[in-house]
Amino acid sequence: MDVYGLLGNPVGHSLSPPMHEAAYDELGMDARYVTFEPEPDDLGAAVEGARALGIEGLNVTIPFKRDALDHVDPDDLAARIGAVNTIDFSDADDDPETPPAGYNTDVAGVRRAFAHHDVTLAEKQAVVVGAGGAGRAAAFALADAGAAVHVANRTVERAEDLVTDLSIDGNSAGDRGATAGGLDALDGKVREADVLVNATSVGMEEDRSPVPAGALHADLAVLDAVYSPLDTRLLREARECGAITVDGAWMLLYQGVEAFERWTGRDAPVAAMNAALRKRL
Ligand code: NAP
Repeated sequence: MDVYGLLGNPVGHSLSPPMHEAAYDELGMDARYVTFEPEPDDLGAAVEGARALGIEGLNVTIPFKRDALDHVDPDDLAARIGAVNTIDFSDADDDPETPPAGYNTDVAGVRRAFAHHDVTLAEKQAVVVGAGGAGRAAAFALADAGAAVHVANRTVERAEDLVTDLSIDGNSAGDRGATAGGLDALDGKVREADVLVNATSVGMEEDRSPVPAGALHADLAVLDAVYSPLDTRLLREARECGAITVDGAWMLLYQGVEAFERWTGRDAPVAAMNAALRKRL
């Protein structure tokens, strides 16, 4: 039996186990997906232990995505973003000195969520609200797909740091002039945008939107990374004015799809994974 899993703390409410196990069932794979909750100081030991036990692959979530970089060989994208959410042990099985490969599939989650809704990103004006983990993934996804990205964040310095990271060598986003700002300038930026991503947690606890409703318009495609609740105030207001709306479950789904495909080399059964996920949301 192949074992995959998730490292995080806490992981009790994770939706990854049912989503991945639906894929194993659909494809008739003899595999399980297990959650692990190491103490924060034990991340390195957990990764080593997983390799020693023959675990095939791990997802990584809060609070370990940044620190996981120290225990893997990150690909270029994960290194530039500064966060790893997927570890693949397949090339590191035989040599304990070889770190396992590390990836960031949250970026593909954003890119593929838009693609699923036939939203193209090249040459588009994009606004990302938020500069935490989800904001970084969204900004890199949009910039790498050829959009001009503006990052708006409550803490402006965090948005500025993200734009600096977007613009370093190896990423042409700088050529398209990624910019940063605070939430006060959001209204004007969204009015001019083609694509909008909410990557803040606003909308989770209360029925609030981080974007002024008057700035939304029919030519916009809106992804809300928040998936609990699924239908956020931002998405409702965007839908009411005729925008394309993409809920956070699509991003969650496609980061899992991308991880599954990296681990197994097989096309993921997207419909089965999506159904399992939505059943629990
Ligand atoms: P994070 O790293 O803690 O970042 C939180 C972001 O939200 C920061 O930009 C923060 O601004 C902003 N923020 C928090 N409270 C705010 C408020 N009251 N007003 C304005 N901005 C506020 O968290 P994260 O991991 O990026 O997650 C952000 C959201 O995305 C969560 O709802 C999470 O569930 C969701 N998410 C979804 C997926 C998916 O696959 N769909 C994946 C990852 C995350 P400051 O920098 O100023 O604090």
